[in-house]
Amino acid sequence: MQHTDVLVIGAGPTGLTLGIDLARRGVDAVIVEKGAALSPGSRGKGLQPRTLEVLQDLGVLDEILAAGGPYPTTLLWKNGVRLGEHQMFDPAKAGEEGSRFTVPWMIPQWRTQEILYARLRALGGQVRFAHEALTHTQDDDGVTVTLTGGTTIRARYVVAADGGRSTLRRALGIGMTGDGAPEADPFLVGDVRVPGLSRDHWHMFQAEAGFLGLCPLTGTDQFQLFVQLPSGEPSLATVNAALRDRAGLGIQATDLTWHSVFRPRTALADRFRAGRVLLAGDAAHVHPPSGGQGLNTSVQDAYNLGWKLGAALKDPASTILGTYEEERRAIATGMVALASAVQREEVRRGRSTRQLDLNYRESSLSRETRPAPSGLRAGDRVPDTLHGIDLHARIQGPHWSELTLPEGVFLVRPDGYVGWAGDSREGLAEYAAEVGA
Ligand SMILES: Cc1cc2nc3c(=O)[nH]c(=O)nc-3n(C[C@H](O)[C@H](O)[C@H](O)COP(=O)(O)OP(=O)(O)OC[C@H]3O[C@@H](n4cnc5c(N)ncnc54)[C@H](O)[C@@H]3O)c2cc1C
Repeated sequence: MQHTDVLVIGAGPTGLTLGIDLARRGVDAVIVEKGAALSPGSRGKGLQPRTLEVLQDLGVLDEILAAGGPYPTTLLWKNGVRLGEHQMFDPAKAGEEGSRFTVPWMIPQWRTQEILYARLRALGGQVRFAHEALTHTQDDDGVTVTLTGGTTIRARYVVAADGGRSTLRRALGIGMTGDGAPEADPFLVGDVRVPGLSRDHWHMFQAEAGFLGLCPLTGTDQFQLFVQLPSGEPSLATVNAALRDRAGLGIQATDLTWHSVFRPRTALADRFRAGRVLLAGDAAHVHPPSGGQGLNTSVQDAYNLGWKLGAALKDPASTILGTYEEERRAIATGMVALASAVQREEVRRGRSTRQLDLNYRESSLSRETRPAPSGLRAGDRVPDTLHGIDLHARIQGPHWSELTLPEGVFLVRPDGYVGWAGDSREGLAEYAAEVGA
């Protein structure tokens, strides 16, 4: 039997991000993935500004920026006639959100995964492909997981990053609460090539037969197709029938390289932890894609969890790991509600979907000691720059950081949120000792 400190199940965006964070802090970890390779498909193609900040800290920002681009303007069509242009995202006001990133960055999910995987490999990490986690047992000291082929791995902690249909979550008996809408029409999402269609716009076609969208995928010659499912099995022929009926421009797709059929739904796991097993990403929360939050919330789960696993492994008496569920379940509750509101068109995509205002002010880890704090507070995300100082450069890396600014003294967590804030350093050392900073 092999032993490791952390076993991560699933090499989607969540598992890969966690793998990078664990590798850079020197934690012994194994990632297993049931697929023979990284999953294909453009799926979660929008990286929100907060996720870009996280990816910058993890050392992959240049590759992400080079491989993606901003979203094009949306162009609405009806019966072959242009109805007009539409802005999908409300713009950020200059400087208001304290980030150098102001718009979501479009990059197909398969490409994001490739970039994360390359970073993981560069840090010495690996993914064991074609290894499916089948069963597990846990006791006070660890978790034993059986994989395909009968291999067993014993880990001090296991992270279920195995997606929305998580077998681990089911095996643990953790329920999902949500508003699954089985009566809603299913959607087909897929990657297609459509010669002759302009790549300057995200095309949205309205027709009697239903809606059809084609978004040019930056860095590729493909479009992401999104269509209320036409009758029949998904195939190039059904896609072209839908294009004929709904787009009315005489355009045809030449291939369908990946597709998935799904019903938009919202669901949240009742718990994010059972003993030594933690749920992260889609295993813990499922969002309707129209909100563009699923992958983003997942990456940020991993970023919250990595340093806490590191703390728990370093000091078994540490209680920090307990704050993962406290903090991330609260965030996920808000994000699935937001994504549903966006889907119902009650909320515009803008400041709230950029995820820069998310904070942990209510967390038991946040300690605000100033009687009248103003500006940056305990639990807040540290802004990119303040008073002309590049704060993100000062806090970059897997460690805690201390900042002294005109507003006060701040001890910043490894994930870039203020843990402790005071008028002076008085009390800082006690907090640092408590959290193992
Ligand atoms: C059609 C569609 C459109 C979407 N659009 C958006 C969007 O616009 N914006 C956005 O932010 N998000 C979007 N999402 C959501 C986004 O794709 C997910 O939130 C994201 O993939 C979650 O990452 P994950 O790593 O948690 O799970 P996944 O990406 O599902 O990865 C889980 C991995 O675990 C592996 N696995 C499963 N079971 C086992 C096992 N037992 N043993 C070993 N490995 C296992 C799987 O093979 C898979 O590789 C969309 C999703 C879909 C399906």
